[in-house]
Amino acid sequence: MLRAILLGTGSPPPNPRRRGPATLLSLEGECFLVDAGSGVGVQLVQVGMRPYDWPRVFITHHHSDHTIDLGHLLITRWIGGQNAPLEIWGPAGTRAQVARLLDYLAWDIEVRRAHMHDRTRPEVRVTEIEEGSVTEAGGVRVSAFLVEHDPVKPAYGFRFEGGGRSVVVSGDTRPCENLVRWAHGVDCLVHECCEMAKTSWAPGCGWATIEDKIRDLAAYHTQPDQIGLVAKEAHAKALVMTHLMPGSDPEALRAAARKHYAGPVAVGEDLMEV
Ligand SMILES: [Zn+2]
Ligand SMILES: [Zn+2]
Repeated sequence: MLRAILLGTGSPPPNPRRRGPATLLSLEGECFLVDAGSGVGVQLVQVGMRPYDWPRVFITHHHSDHTIDLGHLLITRWIGGQNAPLEIWGPAGTRAQVARLLDYLAWDIEVRRAHMHDRTRPEVRVTEIEEGSVTEAGGVRVSAFLVEHDPVKPAYGFRFEGGGRSVVVSGDTRPCENLVRWAHGVDCLVHECCEMAKTSWAPGCGWATIEDKIRDLAAYHTQPDQIGLVAKEAHAKALVMTHLMPGSDPEALRAAARKHYAGPVAVGEDLMEV
């Protein structure tokens, strides 16, 4: 059966209890990683993977909380001895972002190569995606669909199907009709719930008041009072909430989701299998 493990259920604010966004899908040893948030390498080790075998990566969008440890994955895999190209799928702009990352790592790569014998540089194979079928491997079909995270465009969610099970990972989005379509009847909907009422504010942070900040940021994320409706409209068989703020209360999130959605609801925790 297609398995899904939440590696990181956090959001941008550092949170000792939650690593940055990352979800691992697997079917009989074939692995697919969605996003590479802070701490993803440690979490992969926690679920039994080793750097040499880091999985292929699917990037939902290029907000730094979803990509900040892509460089860590790339370099530790190479240091571990892996020469096969790391495969990365992501939105338009992924190729340029990866080129910048390799540029940033170039000094480290060369200083390490000088210590090695006949070692090639790390290679990355980037595929910039559009909506629709993205790839198929080991009996798993991966599709990408557009979500609404403006001004971040394009931003994607992913649908995985294999071994008689389907899982959708929303990426970052406000409630989105296109996601409802692509998630229709899904066995497990892993959906963001970034509760902006729990955000912090400081003078000079870019908003005049905390109310302004909450309003602007809530407009591109899904709030606790909205997520149950998304799951209901999608006829999802189960809902899992992720991309959580440090101040969010799991019991309150669950209660909010249940107001609209009658199916099983889980508030994600790091390393939880869903
Ligand atoms: Zn985002
Ligand atoms: Zn995010």
